[in-house]
Parts: sequence; C-alpha cells; structure tokens
Amino acid sequence: MAKKLRVAHLYPKLMNIYGDRGNILCLKRRCEERGLDFELDELSVGEKLKSDHYDLIFIGGAQDVDQRRVAGDLREVKGDALREAVENGVVVLAVCGGYQLMGRYYRTAEGAELPGVGLLDMWTIHPGEADKRFIGNIVVEWNGGTLVGFENHGGRTYLGDGARPLGKVVYGFGNNGEDAGEGAARAGVFGTYLHGSLLPKNPKFADHVIQAALSRRYEGIELDEIDDRVEEAAHAAAVQLAMGRSII
Ligand code: GLN
Repeated sequence: MAKKLRVAHLYPKLMNIYGDRGNILCLKRRCEERGLDFELDELSVGEKLKSDHYDLIFIGGAQDVDQRRVAGDLREVKGDALREAVENGVVVLAVCGGYQLMGRYYRTAEGAELPGVGLLDMWTIHPGEADKRFIGNIVVEWNGGTLVGFENHGGRTYLGDGARPLGKVVYGFGNNGEDAGEGAARAGVFGTYLHGSLLPKNPKFADHVIQAALSRRYEGIELDEIDDRVEEAAHAAAVQLAMGRSII
C-alpha cells in the first residue's frame, strides 16, 4: 500500500490570505509526483481535531478580525488536541496570523489580547494601525540556503528562550524588524511570516516539512528526488527580485 501524507488544514476560509491555500496544493502535488497518497481534511470553527490521525497540520494567515474569530475556537475546541498532536510528533506549519496564534498571545492593533495555544515560546504585539506595517518581499537564510516570500503584518513577534528563529532575515523585516529573526521553530512546529506562497516558492523547505511529517509513521523515510528545475528557477528569480537585482 502506498504511503500517505495526512493533512489537516485549519480554517481554510477564514485564514487564507495571499493564497496560503497554495501551500496545500503544493504539498499534494509533491506527494503525488512521488506516488505518495495525500489525504486532506479541512476543519473550520466548531470542528474537532483528532490528535493522533494527522501527519501535518497547516494554518494560514488572516487579518485581526478573522484571527479574533478563530482564536477562541483554536483555544477551546482544538487547543488540547493540537498540543497533544505535537507531543505525538505531528508537524505544524503556521503562517503569519496563524503563526501569531501559536504563541503565548497576540495583542491586536486595538490592544485586545488573544491568548494563543502556546506551542511556540513567543508573543506578538501590534503597536496600532498608526505604526508602520511590515510589507514587502522577504528573503531569509535558512538551513544553508534561502527562503523567499512576501510578508504583510503589523504585529511584532518576540521569541522567548524556548524557541529559536526559523531563519535569519537577509532582506525584509521578519519577526519584529529589529533582531533579524524570522519565524520560530521547535521540534516539529514551524511558524513563519512568509506568504506568497511559501511552499511553491521554496521547494526545499516544502520537502523538509513533508519529510518531517512523514517520519512520524514511516521512520527513516527518504523522499525521492523530483524535477524541481522550474521551482528552483522561480525561487532564484524571486530572491533576485526581492533583493532588487534584475533577473534579465
Ligand atoms: N493580523 C496580523 C498582523 O497584521 C496578521 C496579518 C497576516 O496574517 N497577514 O500582524
């Protein structure tokens, strides 16, 4: 029987800006190209999460208004299962607004505090709409290579001792525009501000996530090589554009 990647996509309608859903399409495609089965469940407000079924749980970004709608559900309906899942080795990938909710809390532009699920030792403060938003292309040093994407957030994220940044900002703002940290990582939990879309533009990171997710049920699994010439060229072009260099 073919190996299978089981994915839960949390709040696909509410938390989906800048095509964060494209990450799911990319995961599916990269599995199919390798003959791996792909299973997807979309879970919205009120729907329970099974803590021992999925290999990967994905949540995208959204503006404050939608974040407010999901924060309570995340805490009260899915929080325990999400924490249990991570204890069981399930991988979590969270982008922007979703990333902010993985921490201790997110203080919105109006000063309301939305408690997070505490999967990452970090917290986020939005200084208010009058302050600068961190908008634009972003390039991050990651794992000896680069990640490239687009960021758009008002919140500033700060990491505690229990988390390390996912990567180091080469161009752009990242977590807070001050310490060059981008995102946060702990065991199988990855949080990042990169939209645009993260996985299609960063095939090595996509495989890193898939491999980590599959390793829970298929110990020692190695992913087959696939032809990434188009993806790698798109990645390189995006990096060059972000850095302000012509690609012609
Ligand atoms: N509401 C958050 C902020 O502005 C997240 C925005 C997003 O997900 N793009 O900081």
